[in-house]
Amino acid sequence: MKFGGTSVADAERIKRAARRIVAAREQGNRVVAVLSARGKTTDELIAAAAEISATPDAREMDMLLSTGERISCALCAMAINDLGHRAISLTGSQAGIVTDTSHTKARILDVRADRIEAALEEDMIVLVAGFQGMSTARDVTTLGRGGSDTTAVALAAAVGADVCEIYTDVSGVYSADPRIVPEARKLEVVSFEEMLEMASSGAKVLQLRSVEYARNHGVRIHCRSSFEDGPGTFVVGEQETMEHALITAVTHSTDEARLTLTGVPDQPGAAARIFETLAEANCNVDMIIQNEPLGEGREGAELSFTVPRDDLRIAREALQPILGELGIAQIDEEPEMGKVSIVGAGMKSHPGVAAKVFATLAGEGINIEMISTSPIKISCVIRSGRVPDAVQALHTAFELGADAVLEERPIGERAR
Ligand code: ASP
Ligand code: MG
Repeated sequence: MKFGGTSVADAERIKRAARRIVAAREQGNRVVAVLSARGKTTDELIAAAAEISATPDAREMDMLLSTGERISCALCAMAINDLGHRAISLTGSQAGIVTDTSHTKARILDVRADRIEAALEEDMIVLVAGFQGMSTARDVTTLGRGGSDTTAVALAAAVGADVCEIYTDVSGVYSADPRIVPEARKLEVVSFEEMLEMASSGAKVLQLRSVEYARNHGVRIHCRSSFEDGPGTFVVGEQETMEHALITAVTHSTDEARLTLTGVPDQPGAAARIFETLAEANCNVDMIIQNEPLGEGREGAELSFTVPRDDLRIAREALQPILGELGIAQIDEEPEMGKVSIVGAGMKSHPGVAAKVFATLAGEGINIEMISTSPIKISCVIRSGRVPDAVQALHTAFELGADAVLEERPIGERAR
C-alpha cells in the first residue's frame, strides 16, 4: 500500500492511512506500506536548500529530501501502534533498496528485502520511507520527483505482493483530466503499455518509472482513492485487459517549449552532435522534427524539438558553444507550447484515428505545430493556451465520456 503526500498531509490523514493499513492487516493480509512526504514537504525542503545555496550539492540534497518520507513513516507507525498493532518504520536504506549513484534521480538496482520479510514473519506491519534508497557507494539517494510510486512497485515485486495499491487523492486513472473534462470517466483497467504512454504524455497519477518497473516485473497496480472506498483503476498486463477500446484516454501537458535551429548543416553527424550536447546537459528532449533544405538558395536544414519548459534555459546554454562550430544560423524559441495526446491499444489495428484527431483539432481552429506517433499514441504539439479546448474536443470526438458508454452496444464495441 502506498500513500501519497496529500493522503498523509496532516495528523488526521495519517491516522486515516493507519486505519486503512490496519484494516488490510485485519483482513488477513501482510502489509508493507510506503509513504510519501507530507503535503508540500518536499517542495519546502527544496526551497530551504535554495535559500542556503544556489547550487546545492546533489548528495546533500538527497540527505535533505529523504527526511520528508521518514517523518511520515515514523508518525504513521505511532498511529498504528496506538491501534493495537505492531508497526516498524524503515528508511529506504534499511529496507534494502539499493540504487545507482546518480543523486536526485537514482535508479533502483536491487531490493534486498530480508529485513522486511523478517518483520513480516514477526507479524509486524512494515512502513517504508518512499522515494529513497542507498547507493552502491553507501550514500542516501532519492529516486526523482514522484519516486515513492517506484519504491512501492519495487517492494511489491521484491516481496511478491498480490497487488501494489497506490492510494492517492483521485479515485483512479481517468479518460482525461477531470478538471478540464468534467464528464471524464474513471477507467477500470489500463494496460501497462497504455499507462506508460499516458504517464509519459502528461498523466500525473503515477511516476513513469514506476509503470516501467511494474511492467518489467509484472506487478499489478491498483490506483485508488485514500478518501473513499471502492475500486479504482487496475494497471495490468495487456492479456488481462479484456476489452480493447479504440482510444482509452486523452492526456496533455501545458509546460513544453520548442526550439528551432535553422541552417543545420545537411551532413552526417550534425543531429548527433546537437542531441549529444543536450543529453550531456541532462536536457530531456521529447519531440523532434527535421526538414531537409527545400529548393535552391536554402542553406541547411531546419531542426525543431521540444523540451520541458523548465529545461529551456539549460538547452539554450548547452547549444550556444556549438552553434558556431556547426554553422547554425539561428535558434528560435517558443516557450508557450503544450501537447495533447490520445492513447489507446485499439488504435494499433485501426485506420483513420490520426485523421480524426487532426480533423477534430481543425474543427476547433487549433493549429498543430508538431506531430509524433507510437503504435498506441498520437501526440500533437499546439499552443499551450489551446490545450484545454483540444482535450475537451478530442474527448468528445472519441466518445470517451461517462455518458458515451452506450448500453445497447455489445461489450468490446464500447467507446469505438
Ligand atoms: N516526496 C517526493 C515528491 O514530492 C516523492 C513522492 O512523493 O513520491 O516528489
Ligand atoms: Mg505522487
